[in-house]
Amino acid sequence: MKLLVVEDHPNLRSLLVDHLRHRGFAVDAVDTGQRALAAQCVTRYDAMILDLGLPDMDGQRVLEQRGADRDRPIPCIILTARDAVESRIASLDAGADDYVLKPFDVRELEARIRAVLRRASNSSVTLSCGNLVFEPRARQASVDGKALDLSRRETMLLEEMLRTSPRIVVKEYLEEHLYADSESVTLNAIEALVSRLRRKLANGGARAGIQTVRGIGYRLLPGRDETDDPA
Ligand code: CA
Repeated sequence: MKLLVVEDHPNLRSLLVDHLRHRGFAVDAVDTGQRALAAQCVTRYDAMILDLGLPDMDGQRVLEQRGADRDRPIPCIILTARDAVESRIASLDAGADDYVLKPFDVRELEARIRAVLRRASNSSVTLSCGNLVFEPRARQASVDGKALDLSRRETMLLEEMLRTSPRIVVKEYLEEHLYADSESVTLNAIEALVSRLRRKLANGGARAGIQTVRGIGYRLLPGRDETDDPA
């Protein structure tokens, strides 16, 4: 995932770049609006983090003139001061995907970037693995056209597994993304959830199966190759 950081404050810029690189993103950073627009002409970015107060032009104009990827404007998160309500509204009206108020915790920004990237990654395209099909809009999974009866949480788990397949979904990631912060979750709860989904997929006739990768997480594979943790 490649990000463009547009921020003229040198300390904040290097803080953002260091943190995001450390978290596995490829990051380019610029300090003016002109450079931001120029960078988008030569590089395809997955998302842009944009400060509104830039020395050469209003960040709002960068937002309006930003590049597009596959007909869709580059997803954009605005960095803005707490009192700038008007410009925040204008930015959202101009198509910003989210905003973060300064001063902010860089971990919150990172979480918002991930959320924007998830939404942008073809969130409405039908997902499938073998004869198992999932319609994100309807939140409905089916096998050979026959609907599966899944709980809300089982559905979220299946969607994560389908989007990641055939790569591994890390257990701690599921813990963070399937449950709210206020809920206390044990890793046993994740294991129980996976076991329920695995059983429903098998009973529904899905050829795809969830493989346990011991100590790491799970992956969805088109042919059933399951190794369940001992109960
Ligand atoms: Ca600024």
